[in-house]
Amino acid sequence: MADNDSRSGARYDDAAINEYVHRVHGAHDAGLELAFRTSEREDMPAIQLGQGEGRLLEILLRLIGARRVVEIGTLAGYSAIRAARALGDGGRVWTLELLPAHAEVARRNIEAAGAAGAVEVLVGPALEILPGLEQHGPFDAVFIDADKESYDQYGRWALRNLRPGGLVIGDNAYLFGNLLDDGPRGEAMRRFHEETAAACDSVCVPTPDGMVVGIKR
Ligand code: SAH
Ligand code: MG
Repeated sequence: MADNDSRSGARYDDAAINEYVHRVHGAHDAGLELAFRTSEREDMPAIQLGQGEGRLLEILLRLIGARRVVEIGTLAGYSAIRAARALGDGGRVWTLELLPAHAEVARRNIEAAGAAGAVEVLVGPALEILPGLEQHGPFDAVFIDADKESYDQYGRWALRNLRPGGLVIGDNAYLFGNLLDDGPRGEAMRRFHEETAAACDSVCVPTPDGMVVGIKR
């Protein structure tokens, strides 16, 4: 069932293995740890990237020398801090969050992580905020991790506003196992996959819930 993992016996859900690999490869500093553990202190869902996914985001942004990054879906700022840690001097992350309560917690976490100078949290529905951001583009990367029924629209915005060689990255690309379902969420997510694949050299990285990475042509 599971792709290559089940054949090899390797498991992404082995807690001891995960503890080991996350400690060895890019362990959390205090700021990342504080943001990662937000749901233990605040009334917020624990739906941030996993540690390895956060590190992957950071490594991908480093590889392309990203300086201008847009994130759709801030939550508590964990992935935004990951992105900020990847930027060169003068780099900037614009991160979009629907809920003022989430944005407030994220701003605190980002400040505590020493990343406030590089991250701007913008509050409201992403589809309303994105047009005003275009003046800061073209962007090096757009990371999509918000409401799944809008992934097709977020993906199109990304493809229009990325530089050639820029990255479109989409979390939850398996749609919690519902990618092939009928209905607006499945259809939007499949359009996101297909339009990204048409405009990019792309892959769906087999993270626990899939992560699309496309390099815009
Ligand atoms: N990227 C974060 C997790 C984001 S969770 C991390 O890995 O740390 C998804 C977030 O998207 C939630 O905080 C949710 O409130 C927000 N969201 C949902 N719909 C949105 C919309 N239309 N515009 C902007 N943000 C939205
Ligand atoms: Mg996600």
